[in-house]
Amino acid sequence: MHKGEDCFIEAECFFDRPFKRPIYQFDQRGKAAATAHLQRNMIRFNPILYRQNKNEFIHQIVAHEVAHLITFAVYGKVRPHGKEWQKIMRSVFSLQAKTTHSLNIEDVQGKLFLYHCLCTEHKLTVRRHNKILKGSQYHCRKCQSKLTLKVI
Ligand SMILES: [Zn+2]
Ligand SMILES: [Zn+2]
Repeated sequence: MHKGEDCFIEAECFFDRPFKRPIYQFDQRGKAAATAHLQRNMIRFNPILYRQNKNEFIHQIVAHEVAHLITFAVYGKVRPHGKEWQKIMRSVFSLQAKTTHSLNIEDVQGKLFLYHCLCTEHKLTVRRHNKILKGSQYHCRKCQSKLTLKVI
């Protein structure tokens, strides 16, 4: 995790103190990009999202999670995205203190089914698709027409 190490070095220069390096694991599941485990000094990354969103990880997410660990080491238990964390993102890493990411999550969403209405296409999840097979109906918010499975 080169980027993680960069962040730690920046934080050490800024606070003029050493920080214990965390354990990095690549076993985060679901739609979360990564999670910081403060007590265990560990960051879990989502390997599927990492593969598809390397830029966002390298430029935002790694620093975001490292900032959680630095916040905990310096200030103890405070609000997760409070002023201490924001200060580290801005002053130490020179990044925006964003709490949401725009990731491509198609691969962790599961298979999508292509439906259409009278005006456009709609991607539905397996759950919705199965509901339709059982008789539920969905309508397009724009044109109000019923969604039907697109046959390619
Ligand atoms: Zn966070
Ligand atoms: Zn429509």
